[in-house]
Amino acid sequence: MENSSFPKCQKCGKGDLVPLSDFGSQGAAIHYKAWVCTNPDCSYNIKIRNGEIYLNEPILSGALHTRSRQEFTR
Ligand SMILES: [Zn+2]
Repeated sequence: MENSSFPKCQKCGKGDLVPLSDFGSQGAAIHYKAWVCTNPDCSYNIKIRNGEIYLNEPILSGALHTRSRQEFTR
């Protein structure tokens, strides 16, 4: 596919790796913090946090993440 600008996932060979951005605690954008495979059966991911690379961490759903945060602040 010529118009695909994202690298193919090397794990499943089906999905694309897409860059995700995040926002820091000061609201500053952190571009390309993580790359995630678009194949839901694969969900291979690589991300950087505090200068260290994290490979294939489990992906949490947003709902689960929100609930666990509320429990932590209680
Ligand atoms: Zn994949």
